[in-house]
Amino acid sequence: MWMSTIARLALPALQRSTSSMACQALRACRRPGRAADPLPSRLTSMQLRGQQTLGSASLPLACHSVRHVRALDEERMMEVEWEDGGQSLYPFTWLRDNCQCPLCTLESAQARKLLMSDLDIHTGVDVVEVTNDYKVSIVWPDQHTSVFDAEWLKKRCFSAAARQAVQEELFLNERYYWDSKLRIPTADYQEVLRDDKAALAWLLALRRVGIVYLKGAPGEQGQVARLAERIGYLRLTFYGHTWQVQDKYNANNVAYTSGRLSLHSDYPALHFAPGVQFLHCITQAEEGGESEVVDGFHMAEQLQREDPEAFRTLSSLLVDYTDTGTDYCDFMLQSKKRIIDVTADGRVERINFNNATRDSVLDLPVHQVQPFYRALKAYVDIMNRPENVVTYRMMPGDIVTFDNWRLLHGRKNYISRPDRLRHLEGAYLDWDEVMSRLRILRTSVHGNI
Ligand SMILES: [Zn+2]
Repeated sequence: MWMSTIARLALPALQRSTSSMACQALRACRRPGRAADPLPSRLTSMQLRGQQTLGSASLPLACHSVRHVRALDEERMMEVEWEDGGQSLYPFTWLRDNCQCPLCTLESAQARKLLMSDLDIHTGVDVVEVTNDYKVSIVWPDQHTSVFDAEWLKKRCFSAAARQAVQEELFLNERYYWDSKLRIPTADYQEVLRDDKAALAWLLALRRVGIVYLKGAPGEQGQVARLAERIGYLRLTFYGHTWQVQDKYNANNVAYTSGRLSLHSDYPALHFAPGVQFLHCITQAEEGGESEVVDGFHMAEQLQREDPEAFRTLSSLLVDYTDTGTDYCDFMLQSKKRIIDVTADGRVERINFNNATRDSVLDLPVHQVQPFYRALKAYVDIMNRPENVVTYRMMPGDIVTFDNWRLLHGRKNYISRPDRLRHLEGAYLDWDEVMSRLRILRTSVHGNI
């Protein structure tokens, strides 16, 4: 039963009409005891590259018809009256700027050819009318003609509600916040590789919940790279294309020891930290090594509620991070980050916190130092409350995929034995590539929405 709950929560409002399909896909992925054996239809990474979305389908579009159009010359806007009685306003300048004719738009790239220098931002119109095939036609003063589809216009309506709906469809910013009671959504690794519905359900849950567990991967290196190619490509960093989390002699990162790792996000020493992380368990320690995660956005919301001053401090002061060493090549990184990044409209969009790489250089006036520590301590204390932490233990063949801009993750210490080294392989991706694949999968599975 929790599965359908997670699937529902993983889906944004605009996906509700398709939620049953995604739900089935995710439920299918959860069949217990599913064999981890390679399947006959197993695809190699070469076959996958360039064709990561495996099928295509289309659904008829919702139909919006134009009843009437008129030019409001004084306001320099066109008013569209829809069949359902609703109205939309479109500024003349925007309409001229977005003319879809071959002179103004390169159709093969869906890109604007019209130059800003050729756009008259004070243009009027000569004629606006509804054509016989229910499109909107505009003749401009220089007799250039633009024709707009009703659907195309409807989607670009400037009302606050329409804009919000389109932004949610494009970016899926609605999140499901969780605490220790979360049961991590789980999918089957092989199914995600070969089935678009399963891949879509995986990425929707990754976006919405921030963490998805994949089971049934082969117990050898190379699986996180395969999974990255299902999406596009992985993110190269100074730790390599993929990286091996093991207890290493003379470790160049605290992750490469057997010690406890407190809750952190990866790589705030990069100004553009990786958005998504994959970790594949190849060998687990005999004892210890459990993983811990918290929902950093939810924790930030709790901090804002309980201690608004601390929230203001962490979302405004810039903290220095540093990372120096040699791995893929030698590196000497410095960055300045807010521990809680907030958008202009007040939404938390990224957590940047790693106590290991937080620099001893602290670029603050001396009177702000103690308030900074107080605020950070308040945030970390909330994170460490048992009711907020989800603990799980990875087993060979498990891959955890999570939002590195949102989750903080940690690890309990473990007993290192030379004949049985704990070994995880990790890789990073960025949200742009993940969201790109998600949109393509959504279109191929459900048609244009
Ligand atoms: Zn044109």
